[in-house]
Amino acid sequence: MEDKHLLMIPGPTPVPPKVLSATAKPPIGHRSGDFSKILAEVTENLNWLHQTKSNVLMLTVSGTGAMEAGIINFLSPGDRVLVGSNGKFGDRWAQISKAFGLDVDVISADWGKPLDTEEFRQELEGDKEKKIKAVIVTHSETSTGVLNDLETINKYVKNHGESLIIVDAVTSLGALNVPVDEWELDVVASGSQKGYMIPPGLGFVTVSDKAWKAYENAKIPKFYFDLKKYDKAASKNSTPFTPPINLIYGLQTALQMMKNEGLENIFARHQRLTQATRAGIKALGLSLFAPDEAASTAATSVIPASVEADAIRSTMNKRFNIALAGGQDHMKGKIFRIGHLGFVSDRDILTVLSCLGATLQELGKDVDPGAGVAAAAKVLG
Ligand SMILES: *Cc1c(COP(=O)(O)O)cnc(C)c1O
Repeated sequence: MEDKHLLMIPGPTPVPPKVLSATAKPPIGHRSGDFSKILAEVTENLNWLHQTKSNVLMLTVSGTGAMEAGIINFLSPGDRVLVGSNGKFGDRWAQISKAFGLDVDVISADWGKPLDTEEFRQELEGDKEKKIKAVIVTHSETSTGVLNDLETINKYVKNHGESLIIVDAVTSLGALNVPVDEWELDVVASGSQKGYMIPPGLGFVTVSDKAWKAYENAKIPKFYFDLKKYDKAASKNSTPFTPPINLIYGLQTALQMMKNEGLENIFARHQRLTQATRAGIKALGLSLFAPDEAASTAATSVIPASVEADAIRSTMNKRFNIALAGGQDHMKGKIFRIGHLGFVSDRDILTVLSCLGATLQELGKDVDPGAGVAAAAKVLG
């Protein structure tokens, strides 16, 4: 059946019809007074969402572009950085850092496990000469569904005093509490196709006063990604280059929807969907990749014991028109991931779990196909 697709992957995430209609309006000039008014509203609401008073800079990029800008504006070749890596995205920030000539020290953990905060403490406390210029951490590691303890790592960074903290909050912003100003997070990057409920194409970066001081001495070359240009323009409700006008129409509507729901309600919904999904998966006799105490609220990774992950995804797609995400890199074919980020409701989770039960039965697994939805309904009740 056409037009019945249920997108349950952690990015791109489902886009509300209201937001899609907003993006279909004819573009207007980005230097016009009318567009400037839209930017003023969007800026105010982005500050609310990010819990910050500083400008939330918007770049025409995917999340990776936002992170690259967040790294290159504040560092110089040869600078020592500590990069946490326990999945695909942590690996990527180590690669970017190396590409720009930084001296990269990787603190890694097995995929499926959270980063060990003690290792950060030891490295930072041992750095008596204050050589570490930045700690780069992925808050919610979407490739595995693991949540890293950003708050604790950030405390050690603050005790160090010199180092910046640069955060990939791509799948945590808009899904769980990331109080940018209260935690004094120096650079926070995210992307539109995740918690913001709009299509891909916009990246967001926040910058602290301390990071702007580091900017003054940063020597990595930049032009289009020079964040000072974006900051100056944002202060005047403008953009340095032509922005994706239609995406910003969508963002305006999506932010209004988020404000109507309220931050606490948004966080509570993601928490509830995560708990319901995990309960449902356990009840279906499948294993969870991430431990309960480090579960991302963006995606749940599942290790199917006897039936292949790809067979499950293929049947879910063909029979029920539900898209689930696969594993990445060496986890390809070993796990599948259920996204519950952004425009996702209780009903979506119940639908996915009941269809997953039917799928397992169809694939010959000896399971009560209704066990998952029953367990989830109890959590949601
Ligand atoms: C999606 C994602 C990104 C950005 O990926 P893009 O494809 O560049 O948008 C970065 N970090 C995490 C944790 C993500 O989930």
